[in-house]
Amino acid sequence: MQDTIVLLPASGMGHMISMVELGKLILHHYAHKFSITILYTTGSIVDSPSIDSYIHRVSQSNPSIAFHRLPSVSVDTAPTRSVPAIMFEYIRLCLAHVPQTLQQISSSSTIRALIIDLFCSSALPAAKDLCLPVYYFYTSGAYALAAFLYLPKIYEQTTKSFKDLTTTELHFPGMSSPLKATHMPQPTLDRDDPAYWEMLYFCSQLPKSNGIIANTFEGLEPKALKAITDGLCVPDSPTPPVYSIGPLIADAEDGNEGDGVPENECLSWLDSQPSRSVVFLCFGSQGSFSVAQVKEIAHGLERSGQRFLWVLKKPVRDEKTKQTQNYTADFDLEGVLPEGFLERTKDRGMVVKTWAPQVGVLRKESVGGFVTHCGWNSVLEAVVAGVPMVAWPLYAEQHLNRNVLVNDMKMAIDLEQREDDGFVNGDELERRVRELMESEQGRELRGKSWKMREMALAALGTASGSSTRALAKLVDALG
Ligand code: UDP
Repeated sequence: MQDTIVLLPASGMGHMISMVELGKLILHHYAHKFSITILYTTGSIVDSPSIDSYIHRVSQSNPSIAFHRLPSVSVDTAPTRSVPAIMFEYIRLCLAHVPQTLQQISSSSTIRALIIDLFCSSALPAAKDLCLPVYYFYTSGAYALAAFLYLPKIYEQTTKSFKDLTTTELHFPGMSSPLKATHMPQPTLDRDDPAYWEMLYFCSQLPKSNGIIANTFEGLEPKALKAITDGLCVPDSPTPPVYSIGPLIADAEDGNEGDGVPENECLSWLDSQPSRSVVFLCFGSQGSFSVAQVKEIAHGLERSGQRFLWVLKKPVRDEKTKQTQNYTADFDLEGVLPEGFLERTKDRGMVVKTWAPQVGVLRKESVGGFVTHCGWNSVLEAVVAGVPMVAWPLYAEQHLNRNVLVNDMKMAIDLEQREDDGFVNGDELERRVRELMESEQGRELRGKSWKMREMALAALGTASGSSTRALAKLVDALG
């Protein structure tokens, strides 16, 4: 019987892409030892319709990766429930089918391990019952991992919700600067939301695994990794080994939500721009702004005098919402931008609706800076491309990533956001973009980013690289 490693990503394209990249990395080094089987969900509110074509492309180019769809379930999606609460319940109900699916797979293959996403923690006890080793693949960075490992400890220290601790700063082991409690990821903010209790459960399961695989590398987050391995984040029980096998980034060849959107126009436009002259603005797969915020960004860019490539999604209605589920929705571009903006900036700027091939964009010689929402994949893609950043966190664990990018890694410039709703005015954006592209500080960040790029390539590039060694240790642990 063939040996296989079963991967279990959470719902949503980003989680799937990260798991697929992990599968590909394992196969790249150990195709003679294992095949990869991926169990996945469809039909949740965060699943993308393009998942089928993505899976088709991956299967065609990687025959050693097999996909098994878990049966769909139905959950109450009433608007009174939070999106994370609906998503977590959906995943939990889908995962009830995991033991049976694992048993089916066992009839034709020997399962060597189950590797799960944080949000799939409810599969851990069931897999342990089947005597399978269970590893987490934590798709964000080590600082965010340190914070999540430490969450149960913070839970013991207060009875209040983070959303109500408006003047409290949280201190996490391994992090140079504290984080405002209100900047914690949304599902952890409110104890009256069932999503909070699910998150707490996920975090308390992490130490019960056989190990945690992290999409980072030693040189990028040394302090956080040390704090975790020294046991500071889980003071009351042993911390499992952490395997830093990154940076794993999406393969431009597989495509994703951008399918069908004309992509090459912006890449060829970048080819015609001078070296390191363009600032790229892109806010992840879901980042979206109100029309008022879109206009401020446009004013800031126009006044900055810099060349720019800006990816803009259909605006959301209210100022506090920063995330859209409708990420490929069409809209009238001119209608949301200040009058005449496109005409006035046409010689030095380009606005792309909904999606651009970010990995390809960041690799272009003409790109000199990146205004990012600090999603972890975007951070790693900028690190690998050696591009310095302006940090504009919007949702999820992005405020944590911002703190670390600015204060620990020193690869990004901070941006002042309005306290209550995160709004950024045009003058502030103009100032920060100029700083990044024109100032001495920007040049220093560029130098630092280039060094980090070299460290990233070395970590994965050779047999002695820290990430290649970490992967070998993980495979050793599987026996
Ligand atoms: N992405 C892209 N083009 C876009 C927006 C996003 O290629 O216009 C990709 C980006 O390269 C990254 C992913 O989508 O791989 C976004 O992941 P990240 O973790 O940065 O943010 P999230 O979407 O999860 O908030």
